[in-house]
Amino acid sequence: MDLHSLRYLVVGAGLWGGVLAERIASQLGERVLVIDRRSHLGGNCHSYKNAGTGIECHAYGSHIFHTSIPRVWEYVTKFTEFTPYRHRVFTQYQGRVYPMPINLLTINNFYNLNLKPYEVEEFIKNEAGKTGDAPPRNLEEKAVSLIGRPLYEAFIKGYTQKQWEKAPRDLPAEIITRLPVRGNYVTDYFADPWQGMPKNGYAAFFERLFSHPLIEVVCNTEYADIAGRTPKNCLTLYSGPLDAFFGYTRGALEWRSLTFEREVVPYGDYQGTAVMNNADPATPYTRVHEFKHLHPERGPQGDASVIAREYPKTFTRGDEAYYPVNTPENQELLHAYQADLAALPNIIAGGRLGAYRYMDMDKTIAAALGCFDGIQKGSGHALSLE
Ligand SMILES: Cc1cc2nc3c(=O)[nH]c(=O)nc-3n(C[C@H](O)[C@H](O)[C@H](O)COP(=O)(O)OP(=O)(O)OC[C@H]3O[C@@H](n4cnc5c(N)ncnc54)[C@H](O)[C@@H]3O)c2cc1C
Repeated sequence: MDLHSLRYLVVGAGLWGGVLAERIASQLGERVLVIDRRSHLGGNCHSYKNAGTGIECHAYGSHIFHTSIPRVWEYVTKFTEFTPYRHRVFTQYQGRVYPMPINLLTINNFYNLNLKPYEVEEFIKNEAGKTGDAPPRNLEEKAVSLIGRPLYEAFIKGYTQKQWEKAPRDLPAEIITRLPVRGNYVTDYFADPWQGMPKNGYAAFFERLFSHPLIEVVCNTEYADIAGRTPKNCLTLYSGPLDAFFGYTRGALEWRSLTFEREVVPYGDYQGTAVMNNADPATPYTRVHEFKHLHPERGPQGDASVIAREYPKTFTRGDEAYYPVNTPENQELLHAYQADLAALPNIIAGGRLGAYRYMDMDKTIAAALGCFDGIQKGSGHALSLE
């Protein structure tokens, strides 16, 4: 790892760091050193082949690419082709399976009705109206006011309770602004014009993204191990959490974490779809991923399958940080750390951890491209937190 005369250091070999490294190498013709504490490229989008079955698995939960941003699509297709995969999600509740988000099939199956598309809005309004007009004081009341109690009890209550390890009536109403209810039988999870899976998988996509000869990647390396050893004029692009960067001097930002319990099961097809939610409160996991279904174009892929059960978990330091917890206290702490960062020269923080914001892959790429625009124009900090 050569730090001598280094002008660009990228901390984090995820999507945000990868796009920035690629742009700096290919557009500015500058050498970039990328470090990551993990042993692989791709950050949370990392995929690998399961040794026994050869099935490509997503290490941090199923990742489906989808975007409506032309610049992102144009960029990402330089590095991979995409399959025409369309994501569909189902949920299991009391031994029956329903499509998600709630659509006409969910409603008709759940209530044992045969409503028509033009009748659904009125039906839901009627269900929701049974609760009266008092302003909702918590998530439960808000959800009930949007979709009515029976659908809430079935599809929102147990799932939300598991996700947050808290009763919905103890969660703030602001967590949800709307609950999408589709008045038709469309089961595609995403509506974006561009969707799919990288044809040869995420691992191959990231190999390509980082392949420019001016990019050097060093894994298993903590930022703390090299902080302060880079030349003064080296620009650091940091995609780790801000509280960790400052040694938690102002306190810790709250996150939600997850654990994945992986299993090779002796079935060619275990659940018939890539992601099956589970809304039963007594079942501790929220979702089951079955990875072979993310690539139907690869055929049956043998008579075994790889699944991962996803369990929500309270974050404690050392866990993987997955979802920021959007409370006023955390936002205040974030802003304080952002002000601390703005006072430092030659550092930009971004990506989902650095910005403390959930971002889909396309938003992450858009943010990284925007950040690169700023670097190219020489406007550094102003773009740090996209
Ligand atoms: C469960 C889950 C499912 C998702 N599914 C989808 C989906 O289907 N579709 C979609 O579009 N998006 C999805 N996303 C979002 C997607 O994961 C993010 O958009 C993307 O991973 C963000 O990339 P990033 O580079 O910002 O962060 P990351 O991928 O987290 O990369 C940051 C990297 O920085 C490294 N790092 C951090 N701190 C340090 C340090 N101090 N020293 C060295 N290295 C460090 C980390 O090890 C990590 O590899 C999902 C997210 C989650 C949590």
